[in-house]
Amino acid sequence: MNLHDIVTAQPDIISTFLGVSGTTIAVVTDENHRIVDCNANLPRTLHTPDKPVGRYIGDILCPMEDEQFSLLVSDNFRDLLPQMMRVCYTEILYKCYTVPAGSGFLLMGDRVGGTENEVLESMSLLNNELSVLSRELGRKNREIEKAYRKITELSRTDSLTGLANRGYFRQRCEEMFALSQRHRFPLSLVMIDLDCFKQINDNYGHAAGDSVLAAFGALVRENCREGDFPARYGGEEFIAFLPHTPVREALNLGDRLRILFSEQDILENGQTITISTGISEHRPGDSLDDLIKRADDALYQAKHQGRNRCVIL
Ligand code: GH3
Ligand code: MG
Ligand code: MG
Repeated sequence: MNLHDIVTAQPDIISTFLGVSGTTIAVVTDENHRIVDCNANLPRTLHTPDKPVGRYIGDILCPMEDEQFSLLVSDNFRDLLPQMMRVCYTEILYKCYTVPAGSGFLLMGDRVGGTENEVLESMSLLNNELSVLSRELGRKNREIEKAYRKITELSRTDSLTGLANRGYFRQRCEEMFALSQRHRFPLSLVMIDLDCFKQINDNYGHAAGDSVLAAFGALVRENCREGDFPARYGGEEFIAFLPHTPVREALNLGDRLRILFSEQDILENGQTITISTGISEHRPGDSLDDLIKRADDALYQAKHQGRNRCVIL
């Protein structure tokens, strides 16, 4: 039988021990740090006949480190954090451990003997331990923050093109759209679809298709201004939200992309790949969905008019 088994089988042992101990204090407080109960050693230490029930624990014990009273509470029972406390108006020191108990706390303290120097020395060791722990905690927290930022970024990004994905586009656009409306600045939406893309997959394979999409994504990124918000909207469909941009400038972007892309020889066989573009400009009373719907309709018209063109609606 080990110690843990014995104490678990006969829990009264601990409270009996605390009752007779002359070197240990055990104090139960409520959530406001008022004493609810304690073992007999505390009043003995204080030279009072009665338990100091109802008193604020900070009037009885003061932390050696801090100006102001506060309890260092260990939430993890397997890793108790020590706090050196002095009994007020005396030189009596206790190395204390505090854990949550009910709605309040349980503080357990071990009398610390020795000269003042020895005590200071052990305190500085404890301090070192604590600063190592808190450095480690800081490092872990920074790692967690970094991982969280990475996860957030991944959840917003389309991995093939590096552009924002549809979900993040929608989320950001709602914010940007509201801002545009409030300040009444012009705003355009460009929707792009690669022409006859299915044929590229069929003729050259899916991997070749992917490289075309990646190349177009890069071209979009290079040609958008800071403040523009391009995204991959679906399979071979792209979209760009252009705040502060009248439709004339949006058309410039659409045409520039169309011409530059048709000049690229991505498949290295001389095959021209074209795009169709639908553009809409914000009109008073438009919702974001109205704007997207008009760009989509314009794109549909561009396809029907023979592809490789921009249509404005
Ligand atoms: P249209 O000019 O009318 O737009 O014709 P299209 O062939 O481009 O349009 P359609 O919608 O018929 O075909 C789009 C194709 O894009 C079908 C789909 O397999 C392909 N596609 C969608 N996502 C991806 C992707 O991530 N990689 C590759 N390689 N192909 C994709
Ligand atoms: Mg297409
Ligand atoms: Mg399509």
